Amino acid sequence: MKKTKEDKCDALIVGAGVVGSYLARRIAEEGHKVIIVDKRSRAELGGWKNSGHNIDKDVFKKLPVEPPAESEIGAQVEYAEFRGPNTHFKFRLPMYNVRLGLFTRRILDDAMDAGASFQGGVECLGAEIEDGCVVGIKARKEGGDVSYRAKLVVDVSGICAVVRNSLPDEFGIDKKMTPFDYLNVYSEDRKVDPAHWPVPFTYHSVMQGWSGSRRPGVIGLGLGRFGYTGEDPAEACRALARQALSVPGEVIFKTRARVPVRHPLHKLAAPGVMILGDAAYQGKPLNGEGLSVMLYAAETAAGVAARALANDDVSEESLWDYSYRYQRKWGKRFAPIHRLRYELSRFSKEEQAFTMGLGLYGPEEMSSIMLDGKLEISALQLANKVRNGWKAIFKPDLVIRLARASLQGSKLTELYRQYPRKPADITDWAAEADHLFRHD
Ligand SMILES: Cc1cc2nc3c(=O)[nH]c(=O)nc-3n(C[C@H](O)[C@H](O)[C@H](O)COP(=O)(O)OP(=O)(O)OC[C@H]3O[C@@H](n4cnc5c(N)ncnc54)[C@H](O)[C@@H]3O)c2cc1C
Repeated sequence: MKKTKEDKCDALIVGAGVVGSYLARRIAEEGHKVIIVDKRSRAELGGWKNSGHNIDKDVFKKLPVEPPAESEIGAQVEYAEFRGPNTHFKFRLPMYNVRLGLFTRRILDDAMDAGASFQGGVECLGAEIEDGCVVGIKARKEGGDVSYRAKLVVDVSGICAVVRNSLPDEFGIDKKMTPFDYLNVYSEDRKVDPAHWPVPFTYHSVMQGWSGSRRPGVIGLGLGRFGYTGEDPAEACRALARQALSVPGEVIFKTRARVPVRHPLHKLAAPGVMILGDAAYQGKPLNGEGLSVMLYAAETAAGVAARALANDDVSEESLWDYSYRYQRKWGKRFAPIHRLRYELSRFSKEEQAFTMGLGLYGPEEMSSIMLDGKLEISALQLANKVRNGWKAIFKPDLVIRLARASLQGSKLTELYRQYPRKPADITDWAAEADHLFRHD
């Protein structure tokens, strides 16, 4: 293989999805030399995944990023519906359903306008490490080996987490992903007669799926199954289409992917490297929707990275503030839902119907979970809520499992409040967190 010369920069971003591109822009705006690489070409970015992605409207009020242009919006959502056994309600969910390919390319263009340079067709093979610090990456481009030297590398390569997975164990970054930690997702777009469009955005609980308008005359739907079930989501998606759509329509796009739904990495930084996005498991716990939270995380990461580069200090201590601020805000919010998710994921249809009948999740809880990742049901509230249902159907095992998950969730919230200020204290904290996340 031919060997080409090295490229040098301050920050090297691996992965030009929405999140990596936003991060590149924000670091470049601080005057640092930023290169963003992706194994895909610019034209291929985003669109391979799914044609439409929901993103919270609030993101565009809170972050310095222009709301999607008319051409980038497939559909607008103000309220979503939730359909589960014994329950059907509407809840507030102000979102844009963006056309992911167009939106990703615009965010990348913003990064390039800020001075970042993009190199497509570059497949990262892993980190280069010297004296216990990441100093760049090895990559393949046009059939040849390339290496990049950077003061700081950020892994935003999605679920394959190519840099993270190449780090040595001494970095203390968790690399394992169990089949409880991801959903196998199948998603498709169907072209329907305009008379049957638009449709409300709907979450279907027992099916663990969703359906909604994509763009005029097109409906998207999809479904996830936990990795450990070994089930093929495509089969269930056909059943969902029959149930959710009044006319089936012609399938014009389909895709399969894994979506991580695990609690975030305990450590998001190590010497010379930061981890962000799906590579750090930062998506919302129940459905893995990641863009909104990951853009907030990117804003935090960019501030910390720019400061570290300006101080010429990319040590773990210098980058720690990113981990600290993320865990104190989002880790703490999501932890109880992650713990509960292990139980919910194993519910039988009958158990789902039972808990839905208890009214544990109404419109307010659903808005809070879906928008902010907050679920505040204490063990006591849970016990009160189950009292009526307890009389109707006696399910002590289920109630005990839920109560234990709820109690551990509360302990996790407290633990995340005490997330260490210094990397030296992470080992004990991580052991306690692993203990509380543990499920049978
Ligand atoms: C079907 C489906 C529907 C979804 N719906 C929603 C939704 O509605 N709302 C929502 O918020 N989230 C949704 N998600 C989740 C969302 O897509 C992710 O959470 C988010 O895009 C993660 O962003 P990321 O930048 O971390 O990774 P990605 O967007 O996956 O970007 C990673 C980039 O890294 C590149 N890359 C990978 N490996 C390498 C390598 N070795 N070398 C170089 N480049 C590499 C890839 O080409 C890619 O461009 C959905 C996911 C799927 C699969």
